[in-house]
Amino acid sequence: MSLNFKDYIRVILDYPQPGIRFKDITTLLKDGPAYRAAIEEMRKLVEHLQIDVIAGPEARGFVVGAPLALALGVGFVPIRKPGKLPGETIEAGYNLEYGKDSLAMHKDAIQPGQRVLIADDLLATGGTIATSINLVRQLGGEIVGAAFLIELTYLTGREKLDGIEVASLINYD
Ligand code: IMP
Repeated sequence: MSLNFKDYIRVILDYPQPGIRFKDITTLLKDGPAYRAAIEEMRKLVEHLQIDVIAGPEARGFVVGAPLALALGVGFVPIRKPGKLPGETIEAGYNLEYGKDSLAMHKDAIQPGQRVLIADDLLATGGTIATSINLVRQLGGEIVGAAFLIELTYLTGREKLDGIEVASLINYD
């Protein structure tokens, strides 16, 4: 029997700012069978992509990307805020609604030509994922897809990822 995963997502109004309907995935993560089933369904959505390695941005990209990597039997590489990775890194910046942010990866995280899936909990405007893709490409990785637990389709983040296969388990429109 397949689960209705939306039932496991808690929507919190006016967080972190008035007018935002925040999708809280912690209510899914704390339920073992639901978490496992969600990762298994995501695995089915991406298994045809011949993935070598999954890259995911902190922090919620880890709780989706790492178990998905285990399910597929491939490696996982973290994409982090600058200053958090101990080895040599590259960085890329992106604009937020108010201000700027940056992400970093280890220079040796990806081998040139590796087929990379980007994974995160949620696709909103696509800024986080576009920056993650930029970093992987700078390292010579080939982006073969992007996978999300949740896609907010009304924010059209998918358009920033043109040409890349996007897999999302739960959609809000
Ligand atoms: P984007 O860069 O606008 O696509 O935003 C996606 C990033 O913001 C993801 O890394 C999410 O973790 C986070 N995010 C944005 N909105 C939500 C939400 O409603 N619930 C959980 N995370 C969110």
